[in-house]
Amino acid sequence: MKSDIHPNYVEAHVTCTCGNNFTTRSTKPEIHVEICAECHPFYTGKQKLVDTGGRVERFQRRAAKGRAAARQAANA
Ligand SMILES: [Zn+2]
Repeated sequence: MKSDIHPNYVEAHVTCTCGNNFTTRSTKPEIHVEICAECHPFYTGKQKLVDTGGRVERFQRRAAKGRAAARQAANA
């Protein structure tokens, strides 16, 4: 490695919003993440909605309304 062109590779403490934390190595000593291997649906096998401003809820309401309208059209 060339000297004086590489950032410091230090021990990093990673904190997730789910409460999990672990250490790894990085150029930054503190890392905050929103999702990690402990809470990501790919690893937990559970569905998790990362909802921003009720957008998922609004979509589900609209989808339910669409289904109801389709049912009414089919009955008419
Ligand atoms: Zn997590």
